[in-house]
Amino acid sequence: ATNTLLSRFEYVKDFERSDYLLPNTWVVVRIDGKGFTKLCARYGFEKPNDRRALDLMNAAAKAVMTDLPDITIGYGVSDEYSFIFHKTCTLYDRRESKLVSTVVSTFSAYYVHLWSTYFPDMPLAPPLPSFDGRAVCYPSVQNLRDYMSWRQVDCHINNLYNTTFWTLIQQGGMGATEAEEFLKVRDVASPSNVKLLTDYPQGTLSKDKNEILYSKFHMNYNNEPEINKKGSVVFRDYELVEPGSDKVAETIDDLAEPVTQSKTQAENDKKRRAKARIVVEHLDVIKDDFWDRRPWLLS
Ligand code: ATP
Ligand code: ATP
Ligand code: MG
Ligand code: MG
Ligand code: MG
Ligand code: MG
Ligand code: MG
Repeated sequence: ATNTLLSRFEYVKDFERSDYLLPNTWVVVRIDGKGFTKLCARYGFEKPNDRRALDLMNAAAKAVMTDLPDITIGYGVSDEYSFIFHKTCTLYDRRESKLVSTVVSTFSAYYVHLWSTYFPDMPLAPPLPSFDGRAVCYPSVQNLRDYMSWRQVDCHINNLYNTTFWTLIQQGGMGATEAEEFLKVRDVASPSNVKLLTDYPQGTLSKDKNEILYSKFHMNYNNEPEINKKGSVVFRDYELVEPGSDKVAETIDDLAEPVTQSKTQAENDKKRRAKARIVVEHLDVIKDDFWDRRPWLLS
């Protein structure tokens, strides 16, 4: 748009669709690996959870968050990652295609770049790993937290299922179809199937699988690695806040400050945010505690 000289072809620009995301909403960009079921088989991922592959996903997510300081938090499980842009974010004027395509291409580029660190003896060859992506706007903190809870409950349900399924195969000597049928019968037998989601972290169904693991294989699901049970949260690490110790409320003096001053403050906050250490942890993001202790994530 720098050249003022218009050619007769310029009109094609008007065919572009405007895709500015709703202002003042939390933007979640979720990416998901394309055809990772095949990719897992091709590179011999350990089932159900290959630690190298999870570490690679987390490393790529950290790199994305370093490159894009507007992202306040990320949550990853399996071959997917959700990145949350703060509701005040104005990156690319909040154009959806710009935000989604930048996250997807940055993530994919780092995934491929870092592959050899995590799979040193397995060189990548085409078809190369790639990811799809979408953006969703959430208008309230409650909606955003419910989104995070939704993904973590999904992680829990899938991991419990996959752990039981693969244990029946790897330690119980069942075939894939046999294991699937074995678990299906119990699903149908459970009258409170629908209640499972609200029964987190226990449900009639979960209890059945826990019971299978324990009685047949002496395995306690609780002792499984946290990264498998809870997924991974990526965020900027500041000092933890003790629950209940609220910040000093806004005074009339604060409110009387000139706008330029608050702008400087916002700039400082942004710089501080960009410099903070990015950490990966495997914590419960459903309960209040995680958010109460890190008020900067949602403020
Ligand atoms: P952005 O980088 O903001 O997404 P863009 O990718 O559409 O915008 P550029 O990459 O800067 O734009 O440029 C692409 C081409 O389109 C350039 O030749 C530029 O001159 C032309 N162009 C961009 N915007 C306009 C516009 N509003 N009207 C006419 N031509 C434009
Ligand atoms: P699509 O292109 O539609 O996303 P997909 O094959 O990637 O197809 P998903 O539903 O995304 O399907 O499932 C991802 C698959 O990759 C699952 O089977 C999951 O168990 C597997 N997977 C992802 N990460 C790991 C890992 N770290 N270890 C073992 N398996 C993994
Ligand atoms: Mg261009
Ligand atoms: Mg998919
Ligand atoms: Mg996938
Ligand atoms: Mg997936
Ligand atoms: Mg451009």
